[in-house]
Amino acid sequence: MAQARMLNKTISHRRCLTKEEYNYAWGKWEKEGMICPVCKKKGGFVPGKGIVIDGYIPFHVDHIIPLSKGGTYDLENLRVICQKCNAKKGNKLNPDQEI
Ligand SMILES: [Zn+2]
Repeated sequence: MAQARMLNKTISHRRCLTKEEYNYAWGKWEKEGMICPVCKKKGGFVPGKGIVIDGYIPFHVDHIIPLSKGGTYDLENLRVICQKCNAKKGNKLNPDQEI
């Protein structure tokens, strides 16, 4: 009944990722070899634990199309990239951070 409220297509404000979105992004990343799709470096963040393995690069869930440019929380728009590439795109892309 209350589900219809979630289907707001024009939503553009930031929020935390849902568990499904989070798991999807990390699952895809693991399947693709735990590498950064941008710079191809190997990552070592353990999903759900937040552990960065020694010598590996920390990774973050990223929006392929930034929310500020009309990107959405669609699973298709989520990916995991390394901290360096994430930083290059700008902190404003991190859903957990305020503008
Ligand atoms: Zn990278």
